[in-house]
Amino acid sequence: MATLDLVNLNKRYDNGFEAIPSLDLSVPDGEFLVLVGPSGCGKSTVLRMIAGLEEITGGEMLIDGVRVNEKGPQERDIAMVFQSYALYPNMTVAGNIAFAMKLRKLDKAEIDRKVAETAELLELTPVLDRKPGQLSGGQRQRVAMGRAIVREPKLFLMDEPLSNLDAKLRVQTRAEISKLQRRLGVTTIYVTHDQVEAMTMGDRVAVLNRGLLMQVAAPSDLYMSPDNLFVAQFIGSPSMNVVQGKVVSADASSAVLEVAGQQLTLQADAAARLAGLREYVGRDVAVGIRPEALGGDGATSIDVDVDLVEMLGSELLVHATLGAPAVRQGDQDVEVGTGSSTIVASLDPRRTVRAGERLSLTVDTDRLHAFDLETGTAIRT
Ligand code: ATP
Repeated sequence: MATLDLVNLNKRYDNGFEAIPSLDLSVPDGEFLVLVGPSGCGKSTVLRMIAGLEEITGGEMLIDGVRVNEKGPQERDIAMVFQSYALYPNMTVAGNIAFAMKLRKLDKAEIDRKVAETAELLELTPVLDRKPGQLSGGQRQRVAMGRAIVREPKLFLMDEPLSNLDAKLRVQTRAEISKLQRRLGVTTIYVTHDQVEAMTMGDRVAVLNRGLLMQVAAPSDLYMSPDNLFVAQFIGSPSMNVVQGKVVSADASSAVLEVAGQQLTLQADAAARLAGLREYVGRDVAVGIRPEALGGDGATSIDVDVDLVEMLGSELLVHATLGAPAVRQGDQDVEVGTGSSTIVASLDPRRTVRAGERLSLTVDTDRLHAFDLETGTAIRT
């Protein structure tokens, strides 16, 4: 059990590439923190620096308040579960779990007790005598977890540990890992590029982009109040629709946005939540509407032209054209499209919608977002 503090952490690789300019992140004792971001954003670099596998080129890393920059991986008391489980193929499950304890020359009875206890916890008791080649992917993954658990480390580090599992097993195993982590209470840093995994597993989620921390917050806060366009479009599936719109008016009691020549009226609550819009009257902003905020409750609506309808069973996904330019967070800057954009609405699957029709979609303005068109920063109170 431990706290982890990254202070001004910097990573510059030998070739001069600065993968992490300066990262500040504090993880309290027992927290399950997920590091998420697109490929190449620096997640593994951060995890490897924490593990001691990659040199820290600037700033400090503290475990329980003690600087560990100069300590080697063994001295940091950290256990890591990788994407490739790297089990010893010639050893049984019991042998794999016991290996590190044998190296440390623990008493045999103590090792046997810990192996049995861990196997029980991970439901591996019936397969203790099998070799890794005789296990399913999920079981192999649990053995890798077992090896980490018996070490009773201060920190667990996990680097995409579910990526070798099929879709169904991933869902099951992610729930198992979450439950297990809560039961053990070991501070955990979990890396994934999958935002669903991040949202379902993390107490908090840290979103990285190009080595920069975009936001760190509880999953529901990331979804409901993204700090910027990057987080808004990265979290949530399908992605938030973001289009260019104009602030016609904004005061304490209401606000009016014009999108594709149509007016969206925000009542007092929504206008208060987006009070920052008052600074933008007469100017263009990026207006964000989640697919699930369309077509349900809502006093204001917007007309779209339906292009494609996808029936997913639990929802009806409607892809439609809206005559307003799309806005997206590009690699570096906010990019504004031209002409019209395609937006997606997630509707009640019992509705009948056909491609080619013009559809009036209600907009739940309590779930409307607005962002500065140049910086991508959320406009709020
Ligand atoms: P992925 O999800 O694809 O594994 P990631 O977010 O884990 O990506 P990292 O592996 O941390 O990304 O890499 C971050 C950046 O640092 C990338 O641009 C990568 O090319 C670069 N990088 C990684 N290792 C080195 C290295 N040894 N030397 C130079 N640059 C590196």
